[in-house]
Amino acid sequence: MDKSDMQNPINPDEIMIQNEFEKLKSDYLKSNHRQKIELITKAFNFANHAHNGVKRRDGTPYIMHPLAVALICCNGMGLGSTSICSALLHDVVEDTDFTVEDIKNMFGEKIAQIVNGLTKISGGIFGDQASEQAENFRRLLLTMNSDIRVILIKIADRLHNMRTLGSMRSDKQFKIAGETLYIYAPLAYRLGLFTIKSELEDLSFKYEHPEDYASIHDKLAQTEEARNTLFEYFAEPVRDKLDKMGLKYEMRARVKSAYSIWHKMQAKGVLFEDIYDLYAVRIVFEPLPDVDDKNLCWDIYSAITDIYQIRPERIRDWVGRPKTNGYQALHLTVMGPNGQWIEIQIRSHRMNDIAEKGLAAHWKYKEKNKEIEEDTELDKWVNTITEILESPDPNALDFLDTIKLDLFSSDISVFTPKGDIKTLPQGATALDFAYSLHTDIGNKCIGAKVNHRLVPLSHRLTSGDQIEILTSRSQEPQPEWLSFVATAKARAKIDAVLKRTRKEGAKKGEEKVLAAFNKAGIETNSSKIDKLALYFGFPKREDFYYSVEKGNVMIPDNIKKIVKDKADSTWLKSVRQALRFGTKDSTEVAVEPDKEKPTFDKTKPYILSEGTYNLNYEVASCCKPIPGDDALGFINDDGKVVVHKRSCPIAMKLKASFGNRILTTEWSSHKTASFEATLEVKGIDTLGVLSTMTKVISDEFNVNIQHLLIEANDGVFEGKIKLKVHSVEDIQRLCVTLSKIKNVKSVGRVAE
Ligand code: MN
Repeated sequence: MDKSDMQNPINPDEIMIQNEFEKLKSDYLKSNHRQKIELITKAFNFANHAHNGVKRRDGTPYIMHPLAVALICCNGMGLGSTSICSALLHDVVEDTDFTVEDIKNMFGEKIAQIVNGLTKISGGIFGDQASEQAENFRRLLLTMNSDIRVILIKIADRLHNMRTLGSMRSDKQFKIAGETLYIYAPLAYRLGLFTIKSELEDLSFKYEHPEDYASIHDKLAQTEEARNTLFEYFAEPVRDKLDKMGLKYEMRARVKSAYSIWHKMQAKGVLFEDIYDLYAVRIVFEPLPDVDDKNLCWDIYSAITDIYQIRPERIRDWVGRPKTNGYQALHLTVMGPNGQWIEIQIRSHRMNDIAEKGLAAHWKYKEKNKEIEEDTELDKWVNTITEILESPDPNALDFLDTIKLDLFSSDISVFTPKGDIKTLPQGATALDFAYSLHTDIGNKCIGAKVNHRLVPLSHRLTSGDQIEILTSRSQEPQPEWLSFVATAKARAKIDAVLKRTRKEGAKKGEEKVLAAFNKAGIETNSSKIDKLALYFGFPKREDFYYSVEKGNVMIPDNIKKIVKDKADSTWLKSVRQALRFGTKDSTEVAVEPDKEKPTFDKTKPYILSEGTYNLNYEVASCCKPIPGDDALGFINDDGKVVVHKRSCPIAMKLKASFGNRILTTEWSSHKTASFEATLEVKGIDTLGVLSTMTKVISDEFNVNIQHLLIEANDGVFEGKIKLKVHSVEDIQRLCVTLSKIKNVKSVGRVAE
């Protein structure tokens, strides 16, 4: 410690800062990196000086944030001094008067470059202008090619901001939590940062569904003892065997994260009690001097299967062929002592390190103009992303979807006719395979032979398939291809060709339209063309031109009348408005003077209430929330509040892209307005069950059944009841009462 740090030893903030820095130093010294402690100390002192006197929202000195980010880079990702210094300095250029040039002079080119990258993509993530998160994300990914450390530090930054999210305003909490779940967690997963990915998901979950989060934690705590007993019972004979083999290892039960339990409950529509794979058993072993890790994995495998019955279709060999994010392990599922399936994950220490800290920890940082030594899977992925990013004019939101396709997919392995292996995401089709070989092969693809059998382009591949692609020179990419391809690369390539053809078509259509104007003797200008286009229902000129070229729109001879009639601008405005509202008949729309858009006080939740005649909000048609659901508000173009469920995928997208239009909401009690909900009922098909059910619903609850669909099969029935209720409470009461009816086995609310 140098003298300047000792100036004010009694200041508690200063003591906290010094303690945190001591922790960083000691953790760094314990790591495998070269011991560049002086450089790290210099970066810390500089950042501490630059942020001096500034506090974070929660009242802690600002420097505690860069210190925490540096600690995550060091411990959670296994990164070295360059990253640690960059993390310490990451907010200096953004938040203080120092420049990238200053950093370069003091810490050299590389660190300055990384800090510069971080500054460029930091724009507004915690500010108010953060609406264009998608564009921000695109910039984030673009920097990946120059130095992946920029992204890694960005993820560490986000993790610490999530850990301290409690001190943010609640509407921002939603926005940030949504963004994290939508963008950062998948990205962390793709880079193999499993521990961080889980923590990001859990933290987002905690802020989006606080009650569910608490309830899952409670239930996990309540069942812990029973789980431990069962695990010990399972583990004892396994330990015996492994000890006899002379292995050094650790065997533990790993409980699933609260988020993944909740996710499974949602996806399968089941209760906590119904989830049997709450934990997996993990065995991490130390390598033996003369034995290959791979062989040791299989030795342990056969030791276990000598004791327990294996479930053959659940063996996952990621040792021989690692996942694209670098994950390596051997997974198997066996029948446990109580008759339930237990998953076991076998890994060496090295594999475990990669699994927890990511392949990124082993990443050889590429310098520009240096030859790439090894074409790792991660390299390949980065290259695909770069290709997509460089394709012309990706629409920000489409682009997000495209990238997401690639972020979360698990992989299958398929073969070319020559036996070369190709890795594709789950759900990939023959056409995806064609595009993975070459863009031209994809563009000209007319069909495929899978395992020597002729299949259509949309045929979904499974692991182990051998595929031969058939092409034709006259083939062109078709719009419907977009509906079945599963890889980002194929989608981007098809999109690019379609856009080009569309542009060419529109160009020809434009000539036809201009000729029509000419023939009618009218001078053209853009507002007249817009008028004509709107007359045919096209708000965008290019769509109009294209339809003309395709022959879907015939231009009449009397365009003079159309263009001159109602030639005032209010008419145009009303048509535009009609299109925005989706009203079919534009002439019915009254022309309203532009009203002042209402403003919203985001510091308080927006109270959703029913007035005498009207609700002060709209119910989103995608997820149809009802009073009592975890919900949020989105301010639409017309200044109205549209309410979505917090778990709605569309709301997630809105959060990530238009964060500043998100409102926290609160339900007031609703007495008159009613909302649509669907219940699913299952039970034993006996005489009278059905009539008892409907009687209960309509008599005791005075609820309107809108639609009833019951199917009976082999003595069991399954039904869906669509009804109108006032709130979630109504539904809960209904479920309780219905489930008490004899022979009704389960009742629950479903999406549709
Ligand atoms: Mn930061």
